[in-house]
Amino acid sequence: MDFQLIKDSIPSSPAFVLHADEIISALKVLNTLRHRCRCKVLYSIKSLPLYSVLELVKPFVDGFSVSSLFEARLADEVLTGQGGIHLTTPGIRPDEWDDIARLVTLISFNSLTQYQRFASANPAKSSMGLRVNPKLSFLNDDRFDPCRTYSKLGVDIDELWQSSCLHQVKGLHIHNVYSATDFMPLIKTIEKLRGYFGKSLAQLDWLNLGGGYLFNQINDHRPFMELVSKLKNEFELDIYIEPGKAVVGSAGYLLTTVIDSFVSDGKTIAILDTSVNHNPEVFEYQRQPELHEHDVKGNYPAILAGCTCLAGDVFGEYRFNKPLAIGDKLVFKEVGAYSLVKANRFNGYNLPDIYLFQDQQLKKLKQYNYQDYRQQWLTH
Ligand SMILES: *Cc1c(COP(=O)(O)O)cnc(C)c1O
Repeated sequence: MDFQLIKDSIPSSPAFVLHADEIISALKVLNTLRHRCRCKVLYSIKSLPLYSVLELVKPFVDGFSVSSLFEARLADEVLTGQGGIHLTTPGIRPDEWDDIARLVTLISFNSLTQYQRFASANPAKSSMGLRVNPKLSFLNDDRFDPCRTYSKLGVDIDELWQSSCLHQVKGLHIHNVYSATDFMPLIKTIEKLRGYFGKSLAQLDWLNLGGGYLFNQINDHRPFMELVSKLKNEFELDIYIEPGKAVVGSAGYLLTTVIDSFVSDGKTIAILDTSVNHNPEVFEYQRQPELHEHDVKGNYPAILAGCTCLAGDVFGEYRFNKPLAIGDKLVFKEVGAYSLVKANRFNGYNLPDIYLFQDQQLKKLKQYNYQDYRQQWLTH
């Protein structure tokens, strides 16, 4: 990304900027896997369901992965039948089921009760499978560990083994990591599945390995390709992956401006015109986002804080080469996934403008204003 260019040429702040070439280079990595080991790639649209992104991604993937009826509808609008739609969610509602079933081509039911309730009334004959909880944790934080104790995500592998359901379904789905940068969890999970189900896996049409792997940050894809090729050869099934963050995570930037600066308990606080409203995971998971201007050797530390009333609306402490001044522009990096989609207008602060940087040109995609805010809260 040309940081100076976006600072100089974007008149508004805060602004969420997407770099199209970076999305495409992430997709090319996935495309190579698609061709080398013939796995199918679905973009998990929940990470960033921006229409322009869906259109950009569409030619490189076999379809989209969705979590709800609205996501399925949006996916269908973009794909117009030229790609598959996979859905898994604990939240299938009876009143939405007919519409969901008509839109999606693959479903992984989240529980045996959900399967028993909806599978027999499937008007579109989508290919039906189950999400399995392989009960292998690779994460040390329960808030995003699908295999945590008392998990609500997927059929317990022991329960599935004891039931006769594996012989009825067309596919299985697993998803048990978050931002993984090596394939060890996948290899161990497949080993466990094979240990339980062995040759019965050959009765399936497909196996969906989920998302959670940052393919573009993993250098050696050979373990993945070997695993997929082996599964395909041995069991003759389609293998799917459904990355989200691996597609858009690195391609998103948040441009912000320092609007105030003062000292509190001896430390410099810089107030920004953005907040955790625009990147809620900073607060949810207490993670400090990457900042382009940060220099570990910088002599001028400052705490970057958001502009809302929440005391914990703070991005963290960063170091700079010169003292921060009011009006300085800063750019957060690696914020393409799970930021904009979770953004809100708490305290009445506007959402960021949205720009796409493509072919060396900046294009404004979207701008919100007071009318959008007003519309949300108007009741008559
Ligand atoms: C969130 C999610 C994904 C995408 O995860 P990323 O970490 O963005 O790759 C894929 N599948 C399921 C079931 C998910 O819940």
